Amino acid sequence: MSGSRKLFIKSFGCQMNVYDSHRMADAMAREGYVETGRPEEADLVVLNTYNIREKATEKVYSDLGRFRTMKEAAQQEGRRMTVTVAGCVAQAEGEEIRRRAPYVDLVVGPQNIHRLPGLVARGRAAVDTEFPVEDKFDHLAPPARKNIRARGVTAFVTVQEGCDKFCTFCVVPYTRGNEVSRPVNKIVAEVEHLAAAGVAEVTLIGQNVNAYHGEGPDGRTWPLAQLFERIADVPGIERIRYTTSHPRDMSEDLIAAHRDIPKLMPFLHLPVQSGSDRILKIMNRKHGRGEYLDIVARVRTARPDIALSSDFIVGFPGETEEDFEDTLDLVHKVRFASAYSFKYSARPGTQAAEMDEQVPEEVKSERLYRLQHLLEEQRQAFNRDLCGREFDVLFEKPGRLEGQIAGRAPYLMPVQVMGPSHLIGKVARVRITEAGSNSLFGELVTPVPDYQQEPRKLAAAGVS
Ligand code: SAH
Ligand code: SF4
Repeated sequence: MSGSRKLFIKSFGCQMNVYDSHRMADAMAREGYVETGRPEEADLVVLNTYNIREKATEKVYSDLGRFRTMKEAAQQEGRRMTVTVAGCVAQAEGEEIRRRAPYVDLVVGPQNIHRLPGLVARGRAAVDTEFPVEDKFDHLAPPARKNIRARGVTAFVTVQEGCDKFCTFCVVPYTRGNEVSRPVNKIVAEVEHLAAAGVAEVTLIGQNVNAYHGEGPDGRTWPLAQLFERIADVPGIERIRYTTSHPRDMSEDLIAAHRDIPKLMPFLHLPVQSGSDRILKIMNRKHGRGEYLDIVARVRTARPDIALSSDFIVGFPGETEEDFEDTLDLVHKVRFASAYSFKYSARPGTQAAEMDEQVPEEVKSERLYRLQHLLEEQRQAFNRDLCGREFDVLFEKPGRLEGQIAGRAPYLMPVQVMGPSHLIGKVARVRITEAGSNSLFGELVTPVPDYQQEPRKLAAAGVS
């Protein structure tokens, strides 16, 4: 489309930010903006920032420097470039961003992204980081079909936002606000819209997704397990995933859903952070290691093959070698299929940042190395155990090699097989033959039936 305006949007950090970036792009598409990968030609630049773990704020300021140069170059060509900072750094810094980087036009918090089109249209500089009374989701345009298709056969859907738990290391309750759940009918409508455009797998996301308690169509409060049942009925939806869960909200009905809902994939991301009771208490995680191990045992009873994943923080203030060994011991006991692990990073405004006994950097590095080594061994062992097994794979895209297609196992790791490209977007049975370092390799179990042959082969055979 010639004459359309161009949007460059860059997303940092978590899946919630990816989702918000998509929704901002969808909203601006309605205003005639087309996405570009080249920031220098953009009329609107959006940096969707993240500050949960990194010292992201300074990075954002240094990143912004290059947009200043681009904005000046655009001005010389007689073009206007609107520079926007969105996301968690926008929320945390607010006015300060425009003070330090006056060439930034708009600062928009995560709860205010629906106001972006209006702010851009007004053409004036603005900072919008108040938590609004209206629900942003009510004001966000549904994605256009072509945008959904371009993003593939899997999609994220935010069902819950914010957090009331206040772990002492974490900024989320401050940047994303209170815990809020979206109503069931709005989520279902969004999933139906995605499915109608070809999405086969939805991942329901939220900072505390399993604390979900949205209003149901019957006027009652629905827990997450009930939402899964409803979404499993949406035509076209083959797979349901969810992330991120908190151990405190791992209710019996949610555990039972892993036994009872076949479309719910056997994968659970359940951050534990530490294996030491003492540290868990100071972190204000509201559960101990025994409780975590007990949840794992109950989940495995419900769904024996489930892949477990977690987040870990090493070097939390006051963490001793003994505390850290408790973490290693918990990892040995659980056997994780995958995990993320981080060095503790003091976030301004959180309680832990004020604590004495901050752990020296080199101790954190050494512990992270040992933990990651163990987690990597477990990941590889999990993948090796899948060799020879058969399961369904949802194919998402062409593979690395000619004639290959790539998808994901129920347990989330990538799988590559030789197969026809029309299987992309579909689920097919695969036997795993080899575990590579990042992907599994396998073969299609049933030969592709005639009616599923490539369209051009059917045409050649005179079938329409
Ligand atoms: N709500 C989820 C996690 C949200 S933040 C939960 O409760 O588990 C994602 C991950 O970032 C956390 O699980 C934690 O491991 C990590 N993280 C958060 N704040 C951190 C900090 N200050 N330093 C290091 N890692 C942190
Ligand atoms: Fe942060 Fe804790 Fe809330 Fe997770 S539960 S978002 S770690 S405060």
